[in-house]
Amino acid sequence: MSGIYIHIPFCKQACHYCDFHFSTSMKKKGDLISALAKELELRKDEFKNSSVETIYFGGGTPSLLSNDELQFIIDSVYKNYKVSDNPEITLEANPDDLSKERIIALSKSPINRLSIGIQSFFESDLKLMNRAHNANEAKSCLEEATKHFDNISLDLIYGIPGASNAQWLANIEMALSFGVPHISSYALTVEPKTALASFIKKGIIDNVDDEQAHEQFHLLKAKLESSGFVHYELSNFGKEGFFSKNNSAYWQGKSYLGIGPSAHSFNGKQRGWNVSNNSKYIKAIQQNELPIEIETLTQTDQYNEYVMTGLRTIWGVSFNKVESDFGILFKDYLIEQSEIFINQQLLYIDDGHLRVTKKGQFLCDGIASELFKIN
Ligand code: SF4
Repeated sequence: MSGIYIHIPFCKQACHYCDFHFSTSMKKKGDLISALAKELELRKDEFKNSSVETIYFGGGTPSLLSNDELQFIIDSVYKNYKVSDNPEITLEANPDDLSKERIIALSKSPINRLSIGIQSFFESDLKLMNRAHNANEAKSCLEEATKHFDNISLDLIYGIPGASNAQWLANIEMALSFGVPHISSYALTVEPKTALASFIKKGIIDNVDDEQAHEQFHLLKAKLESSGFVHYELSNFGKEGFFSKNNSAYWQGKSYLGIGPSAHSFNGKQRGWNVSNNSKYIKAIQQNELPIEIETLTQTDQYNEYVMTGLRTIWGVSFNKVESDFGILFKDYLIEQSEIFINQQLLYIDDGHLRVTKKGQFLCDGIASELFKIN
């Protein structure tokens, strides 16, 4: 199985915490869309032996594209690739782009999954993060979207300075009240060179409180699990049958094509990343060149990636897989390195798989890095 990720690098305004690749100028939108279609054509041979099961519009803000523009890109996928019968086609969308009319039109398109960037239902949080939507838009778009789509995910951010645990619980309860089957939730992180980092440095905004973020993560987990959600990846909760197929494929090491500026690709052995600059991207594609840098992963890199992604998921890290893919020395190394964390009740072994305990979950990335091998 394979997936295609398409990066739409435009946003209405810059959220204060964001370090993704996007531009707030839409001047090059037409050229960019033509370049995306052309990149799909230029790379069609990379997937000639497998069919596409997921198409994911991420960004940036893909909902800034019109339905016709999205349809044009989807048509380019179908024109150049073998697409399975019922692909998952996800659109990341922001509430301010999801009017009633837009949602109805989208529901009649091939897009069958919406991932909505709600982040919070509180005006104070949305202002602090400089989101383009307000709390009413967050609620009204969900009211309408749930009438027309079964498969909806929403994003929420926890650990926002000034947002109490009670406010966070109210956010979760509000999200649950719409009956969505999937929620992704991330801790607010302070990335270097963002407006958030600079406001914190100047004392305009309080720094994020790691302890509070940790508490809010556990509140989220308890609330969603008691509401029938499966915590299937560190930042993702879904009802049975509604796990993101696109993201699950990443975590299970399946191959995907990343189309568009800054998009990443993976073919099982090599990782590629496109240039993070809209003008350079368009220019290269217009000259029939792929603006991509490729790195061939060593066996150690592949082991480290498997440990990192495996530990974040409910599927865990399979000792058999480590042995069959990387050899007995890697398996012995993993057993040896994990012992201390097992003794500290941060990891446990179940059915031949290494998994994080509830206590270890929030620390998962740090634990994984201790299990890495160095080249
Ligand atoms: S809408 Fe998304 S991609 Fe755009 S600035 Fe905000 S967080 Fe970043």
